[in-house]
Amino acid sequence: MTQKPVLEAENVVKELGKGAGKVIALKGVNLALVKGELTLLMGPSGSGKTTLLSILGCILTPTSGTVRVEGEETTGKSPEELAEIRRKHIGFIFQSYNLFPTLSALENVRIALDVIGRKGYQAAQRAEEVLRDVGLGNRLKNYPSNLSGGEQQRVAVARAIAASPSVVLADEPTAALDGENGHAVMALLARIAKEQNRSVLAVTHDPRTLGYADRVVRIEDGLIVGEERRPKGLDAPEIADLTKRRKANG
Ligand code: ADP
Ligand code: MG
Repeated sequence: MTQKPVLEAENVVKELGKGAGKVIALKGVNLALVKGELTLLMGPSGSGKTTLLSILGCILTPTSGTVRVEGEETTGKSPEELAEIRRKHIGFIFQSYNLFPTLSALENVRIALDVIGRKGYQAAQRAEEVLRDVGLGNRLKNYPSNLSGGEQQRVAVARAIAASPSVVLADEPTAALDGENGHAVMALLARIAKEQNRSVLAVTHDPRTLGYADRVVRIEDGLIVGEERRPKGLDAPEIADLTKRRKANG
């Protein structure tokens, strides 16, 4: 891989809590992400997935080690500067969608543009464009309570990509969804990586998501313990089927 990483963690250590409750959540993690790929971060509960995602997304700062976003080190930056990096380069998706219940789908996406100073007609047009792109062109005025879980998560995806970040970080994006909606969201994330040339990192322990990945990184007890590349050229449902058949055959 000769492509320059868009997001990098180097020897990242993170201590959380204090005194007797102190936990070393990350024990020296190295990870580099490039554009055009969907990477899955898999590992048991408590292994440090959310902590790593938060550090890569500049929500948390490492106790030691280095994070680089588009080649720029984040060490020593002020909270305001980190917020600026987040707004410019990173989109977030959460398990529980985190939509504003009193705003429509369109308004939920417009908010993400508002915070980067894009307002008015152009922002409305951009919000509509990304919602159409995720297949919700006919749901623009719906409130979250009038959308299915899968649709709400697709609004969250639209919101995450509205400002055209180079990186999208998703924490268990399919955990609250049924099979069909989970597959739709993963297919969408894979497409966002490929067609829009973004780097997408999704934390998951959902084996249904495997077929969509270019790369799977495994974390255990605060350390990266393995990594594999997934076969290219097969479409995801075929891979999912293969996995199922393999399991059925023992
Ligand atoms: P995962 O997302 O893989 O389930 P986390 O990154 O949330 O794991 O947590 C990693 C470890 O850090 C766990 O042992 C967890 O209990 C601990 N932890 C997470 N947040 C805190 C905190 N604020 N204070 C102390 N320990 C924490
Ligand atoms: Mg977690």
